[in-house]
Amino acid sequence: MNNNFSFIYPKSKHRHENSDFFMAKTEGGDTVLVVSGPDMELFDGSSEGSKQKFCPLTVENSKTLRKLFSFTNPVSHKGHDITMGLGDRLGLASGGHIKAVCDTGAFPVLAQQSMRELNLTGRSYDDVLSSVVWAVFREGYTTGYGADGDHLKTREEVKYAIDCGFSMITLDCSEHIMPGSAASGVSSGISNDAAPGQIYLPAIEHTVSIYKEFIDGTNLDFEISLDETSFSMSPEAHLFVAKELHSRGVKFTSLAPRFPGEFQKGINYRGDLAEFEREFSAHAQIARDFGYKLSVHSGSDKFSVFPSIGKLSGGKFHLKTAGTSWLEAVRVIALTRPSLYREVHTFALANLPEAKKYYHITEDVTKIPDIHGLSDTEIHAYMDADDSRQVLHITYGLLLSAKTSDGTSLFRDRIYETLQKHEYEYEIALIKHIGRHLEALSLGVM
Ligand code: ZN
Repeated sequence: MNNNFSFIYPKSKHRHENSDFFMAKTEGGDTVLVVSGPDMELFDGSSEGSKQKFCPLTVENSKTLRKLFSFTNPVSHKGHDITMGLGDRLGLASGGHIKAVCDTGAFPVLAQQSMRELNLTGRSYDDVLSSVVWAVFREGYTTGYGADGDHLKTREEVKYAIDCGFSMITLDCSEHIMPGSAASGVSSGISNDAAPGQIYLPAIEHTVSIYKEFIDGTNLDFEISLDETSFSMSPEAHLFVAKELHSRGVKFTSLAPRFPGEFQKGINYRGDLAEFEREFSAHAQIARDFGYKLSVHSGSDKFSVFPSIGKLSGGKFHLKTAGTSWLEAVRVIALTRPSLYREVHTFALANLPEAKKYYHITEDVTKIPDIHGLSDTEIHAYMDADDSRQVLHITYGLLLSAKTSDGTSLFRDRIYETLQKHEYEYEIALIKHIGRHLEALSLGVM
């Protein structure tokens, strides 16, 4: 490690007993933790004499840091009415996320990753949490954040997230919703008229068993995800599930129904706004009556429904975003390193059929203008058009894992290098873009 640092992050100075800590940017662009005093020996790193130690931002060092500074640990968001999931696939966005939400009254869930995202990015829950711990420490963000093991389906996955210190478990019940029913495969947005008991009972049983084994008696936030279905969930079905879970003693923090219309990744809402408002109001009323939050998944960029969510939720909701912060990263690459963007864009289009095995989108590639016809100063416009946004939104896993013939990364290293070099630009882009979400939800900076 190069110990010549060029910059000290002003809010990163913290003291623990007789030891001083701060974070610094080195000439190579990375940040390190610098420790002096008796705590030095607790961290791995390279000592400079006996006065200070330069420590890389490893998972192990982050675990040690969490023992010394309680504010770096994820906590429950019970008691916070408005909470926002801010997934960060690359592990570079939390600084921008913190700055975007810090004065808005929304409680941030800064670590939020599904198993699908972990697999596609080649990351671990330890790594996801560690990235957030360092960001929280660097920004001096002491007022609390959550960590969501998102869309977990099995007991092994739930155990994994809890063992890594996550404070929230989102149980994905999609595989337990009406298995084998004739209604499966109905096109999206269509309500299912079959009796809720027939459809949702297996999901309720699954929830009860996970609750009893892992959640009951803890302070974990527990979210029930019923949103990954091909049909929307009626308020009647929601009421049925809420009553059943209540009567079986399951206490949960939030529930995500499948709303009418389409919540596709990284683009605006598609559907009938009046119908959405009607159903959302009814769902929100049920959630209020039973004392939990309504959770909105795939909440990135749904600008046309944000005002309704802000207004009709009664000031109580959870909203999850993730891919949109990756798209802002791609925007920064397009603006600062157009040659890399051109390669990324061409690869994403060529590998789209593979990515569509994991994500449902309705892009029309014929509408995407040929990149050879655009100048370097124009290509960032791809990030403002739905079809190209969707293509880049869902190909992140393939882009990050692509290798050259000699086994080195095709894009990953250059993507990280570019974003670390343009850390400030990425932060500004996130403050602006997440800020637009918050304003539309009536959560502008107070
Ligand atoms: Zn979901």
